[in-house]
Amino acid sequence: MATIRHDWQLAEVTNLYELSLNELLLQAHTVYRQYFDPNQVQMSALLSIKTGACPEDCSYCGQSGHHKTKFTKESLLSVAKVVECAKAAKAKGASRFCMGAAWRSPPEKDLPKVIEMIKAVKALGLETCVTLGMLDEEQADQLKTAGLDYYNHNLDTSREFYANIISTRTYQDRLTTLENLRKAGINVCCGGILGLGESLTDRLKLLIGLANLPEHPQSVPINQLAQTPGTPLENAPDMDEIEFVRIVAVARILLPKSVIRLSAGRHKMSDSMQALCFFAGANSVFVDDKLFLTANPDCVDDNQLFAKLGIQPLRSELAPISES
Ligand code: SF4
Repeated sequence: MATIRHDWQLAEVTNLYELSLNELLLQAHTVYRQYFDPNQVQMSALLSIKTGACPEDCSYCGQSGHHKTKFTKESLLSVAKVVECAKAAKAKGASRFCMGAAWRSPPEKDLPKVIEMIKAVKALGLETCVTLGMLDEEQADQLKTAGLDYYNHNLDTSREFYANIISTRTYQDRLTTLENLRKAGINVCCGGILGLGESLTDRLKLLIGLANLPEHPQSVPINQLAQTPGTPLENAPDMDEIEFVRIVAVARILLPKSVIRLSAGRHKMSDSMQALCFFAGANSVFVDDKLFLTANPDCVDDNQLFAKLGIQPLRSELAPISES
């Protein structure tokens, strides 16, 4: 059984990444089978509950108020609208419903409404996840009391590259919110984005940063930059497909029990590339045709792909099949 480690070093992770692709895939797939059924993929759906005019300046994001993009500010959705979207997501096969708000941190006046949304979505039999920006301990406790299952808060990239991408918060701010979530007992969804202009070392340090947290995040989204017109990264080149697959494989080896999700940028991936990612250990995707506000394959494409690969889309929670 692969050991759950929190002491990964750059040299050994670099050696893993540099294995022949076949050797790396074999190692990753072997670890994958120890904890998961490799023919099951968990389906999540995502809804933007408050769009645009975010005070943060993330270079990749069309919702930042610092960039001139096509996204205009929309107020917080009503609970009724969120429930309607959650029902539709459930009908399309989602088992988890993620709600995202473009905030630096949740405003005091809006948190009670988000809590109502969490309770209403849970009542539909869906797992809940929210991403609302930075949280203090009290806010994390409030969300836990509301019954929240997961909170998404990405490390984005390496500590060293972080300031190249975001200037309005620090890597340490992210770690502090992650600590508040752990203290509150909320499952953590935490990953990063590839293709921001970072080096290979930054990509591996992102994975090491995730693996060396006091607890591995239960969910790890691996995003590929979806270039958004009007953002500083609108012309960033797409990353190499095999390099992306290698990162997924290394993530699986470092994070054996985490659910690894192909997230933003999946609309650019060929069926073959996705198949390699599933073999390497990716076992979750977003359904529906929007991922926050960027393109995502629609569920018809996904159903065809899963049928071709013999993969069962899961309508229930995906948990590791054994503990260690
Ligand atoms: S990624 Fe999130 S925090 Fe950053 S600008 Fe976009 S909505 Fe705001």
